[in-house]
Amino acid sequence: MSQPTPEVYESGRGMDAHNEVMREIRARNDESYDPTEPTRVWLDEDNTPDGVRTSLTIILNTGGCRWARAGGCTMCGYVAESVEGGTVAHEDLMTQVEHCLEHEADTADAPAELIKIYTSGSFLDEREVPAGTREAIAQTFADRERMVVESLPDFVDREKLAAFVDRGLAVDVAVGLETATDRVRHDAVNKYFDFADFEAACAEAREAGAGVKAYLLMKPPFLAEPDAVEDMKRSVRRCGSVEGCHTVSMNPCNVQRHTMVEELYHDGGYRPPWLWSVAEVLEATADEDVIVVSDPVGHGSDRGSHNCGECDDLVQRAIKDFDLRQDPSVFEEVSCACESTWAYVMREETAYNQPLVR
Ligand code: SF4
Ligand SMILES: [Zn+2]
Repeated sequence: MSQPTPEVYESGRGMDAHNEVMREIRARNDESYDPTEPTRVWLDEDNTPDGVRTSLTIILNTGGCRWARAGGCTMCGYVAESVEGGTVAHEDLMTQVEHCLEHEADTADAPAELIKIYTSGSFLDEREVPAGTREAIAQTFADRERMVVESLPDFVDREKLAAFVDRGLAVDVAVGLETATDRVRHDAVNKYFDFADFEAACAEAREAGAGVKAYLLMKPPFLAEPDAVEDMKRSVRRCGSVEGCHTVSMNPCNVQRHTMVEELYHDGGYRPPWLWSVAEVLEATADEDVIVVSDPVGHGSDRGSHNCGECDDLVQRAIKDFDLRQDPSVFEEVSCACESTWAYVMREETAYNQPLVR
């Protein structure tokens, strides 16, 4: 006679159910992408442990994240932008890098000091970026000061990081932790790993002589505004206490295409967080021993973090100012009548009546 097991119990429930829904939503996407073009590239300025630096951010188009192929995170639409078929050849990846260098040469006065490479997955996953390509990319940017490479905790490995560290680069691994609360990460984000795995990745990075930049997600689906704010304050503090994690990038969830968040949004069940909430977390955690930055994507739009429409640009500017200076007094200079509506949401919104105000 068959015995009940946790696997049987889980079948069709929890993560299993989330993955099934996510696979179905993603299957509706029929766009395809050129393997020789990067997904995106742009120039900016970033706050690093050594001060503010000019940066070149590259989103490489790889085969996409393994976890996304299984179903993946409820808010993540990046895999929809990845190349069909699961892998991109070395030559194509290097052509993408060439295009990024051309963009930099055309737009910037001088080469960026900081290079950030994201892949809509894990740069350190061999299946996305083979060892030889990793080496070639490290060589290409060996004359820069610092590099950030994105990876899930599983793939953080001192030997892989040595390709960069041994070339004299300051290296950070960008880990999409999303929240320090395992229950929220599992049930609301549908991300499989635990905080303990993040801590282990930080220790491994430290062994390699690298640092960690944790990416947090404010307000995944199913969390009300006040719960989302609390979750972020707690998460920033917990990240700050992990040795090796020197920066937290705390970003409000936005509504990306082909995601569960988008389904909920269309059915009136999701509103991205208020920009006041972002300001509240940055202000409340400013005294923690960790750099905290935020970059609200699509701010002021219905699909991005927004307030009333009148004050969005003002609050966004204060957030960008905070990113570079880490001075919470920047928020004293912004105010708007909609703060009282936000305060009402913070008092009254719950998981079952959200969104209280759109
Ligand atoms: S958020 Fe990261 S781990 Fe989750 S599906 Fe997207 S790329 Fe994969
Ligand atoms: Zn306002």
